[in-house]
Parts: sequence; structure tokens; C-alpha cells
Amino acid sequence: MITFDAVTKRYPDGTVAVDALSLEAPTGEITVFVGPSGCGKTTSLRMINRMIDATEGRILLDGVPVQGIDPPTLRRGIGYVIQQAGLFPHRKIVDNIATVPYLLGWDRKKARSRAMELLERVGLDPAMGERYPFQLSGGQQQRVGVARALAADPPVLLMDEPFSAVDPIVRTSLQDELIRLQAELNKTIVFVTHDIDEAIKLGDRVAVLRVGGRLAQLADPKTLLSE
Ligand code: ADP
Ligand code: ADP
Repeated sequence: MITFDAVTKRYPDGTVAVDALSLEAPTGEITVFVGPSGCGKTTSLRMINRMIDATEGRILLDGVPVQGIDPPTLRRGIGYVIQQAGLFPHRKIVDNIATVPYLLGWDRKKARSRAMELLERVGLDPAMGERYPFQLSGGQQQRVGVARALAADPPVLLMDEPFSAVDPIVRTSLQDELIRLQAELNKTIVFVTHDIDEAIKLGDRVAVLRVGGRLAQLADPKTLLSE
């Protein structure tokens, strides 16, 4: 479980991106942060894996303040997926997926077979492992991004607008796949989007933020639907 305990982020220029945010993202659930551009979604997400540190308040991972964990150790337990998958262009898909296992010193064969298994998990043909990122469509690259984030089986998955740049039909299938995957994997997922329909579809709970970084509402998506 991830806990935000009165978390504030003020950037050096004085911008308050996140303002006294308190909420919980339970294990086994998808917690969605939704709101307009600039409301502090990405900042909130990046404070979890310490790409950014909070100015005030604490973020706890299963009760342990992340600020006390050194970033490399912390990130071993946290998969991170961004909008344009961010794959290494000169590495084959299989090696892209195995990035973290290689860093962790896994045996090369074991890392590659894990990557192949994950390709199937995210709905891609394992033969794609031998291709390079430019040979894949945008939607396929996002699937690879998800596979890469899952490679070392981290308990936490952070997803920042992962499906926003793909066309609507592909987006729908990626959303369905994520719901299916989460039913198997039971991760703590924090998912950021500006799209309220996506938030309602994916979220077990939905945190609605407004510009200035304040929590407007923490809702069960079924309630949002009926409003
Ligand atoms: P969102 O992801 O919801 O679009 P962000 O977390 O990216 O929002 O940004 C929240 C606010 O913080 C915005 O006003 C943005 O301009 C500001 N901001 C983001 N990064 C920085 C930075 N490095 N320095 C100053 N202000 C920033
Ligand atoms: P989408 O409609 O999902 O965006 P694309 O039209 O980009 O898909 O690609 C369709 C198919 O062609 C995909 O299976 C993709 O892997 C393959 N493909 C796209 N670009 C290349 C390329 N440069 N070399 C080889 N195969 C490619």
C-alpha cells in the first residue's frame, strides 16, 4: 500500500504543484489520479519513486517512508510506464524488456526467457523480441513498456498517461489488457490520466485533483459515473 500523508511539493520557483495531499493507494487496486493538465498528477507519481522529493509530508510504502530508501533500491520494487514507452531505440525488444533484470545481474538466458514470457503476457508475439522499437506500432511499443516495467515483478506499478498517445481502438484494448493483467498480478497500481472516462473504467478508486494540486474528491468510480 502507498500512503500520501499531507504531501506538498513546491518547486524552486514557488509553484505549488501538490498541496497537502493525503490518500491511500491499496495493494491489489488501481488508484487513478485524474484532473486537468497542471494539477500535479505527474509530480505526485514521481514523488513515489523519488524522481522528485516532497517538500512537506511523507509518502509511505507499506508503512516505510520512501525518503529513507535510496532511489535505486526503491526503484527495484517499482515499475514505471510513461506515455511514449521510452524504449531504447538501439536495443532489441527482448533486451529492452530485460533492462532491469540485466541491471540486477540475472543470468542472461533467464532474463531473456522472462522477457519472452512477458511478451506473451502483454499480448504480443514472442517473435517480436527480435525486432527493434521502430518496427513496432505505437500501441505495441506501449505493451512493451508495460512488459519492461513488470520484468523484475515489482509490487508497485506507476503509470503516467501510458495509453494517451495511441489511437482510441488500440487504447481500449490496452485498457482491457491492463484490467485482465491486474486481476492476475494483484499489484499496487497508481495510474495517471487526464481522461475521466479512462479513470472510471480503470480505477478501483479515483482521486480527482484540481489545479493547485489539491484533492477535490476521492471517489469510488461508480459514484462518479452517477454524478
Ligand atoms: P500534471 O501532470 O497534472 O499535468 P504536473 O505535475 O506536471 O501536472 O505539474 C503541476 C504543476 O507544477 C504545474 O503548474 C507545472 O507547471 C508545475 N511544474 C512541473 N514541473 C515543474 C518544475 N520543474 N518547476 C516548476 N514548476 C513545475
Ligand atoms: P497501428 O495501427 O497499431 O499503429 P502500424 O500501422 O504502425 O500499427 O503497424 C502495423 C504493423 O506493422 C504492426 O504489426 C507493426 O509491428 C508492423 N510495423 C510497423 N512499422 C514497421 C517497420 N518499420 N518494420 C517492420 N514492421 C513494422
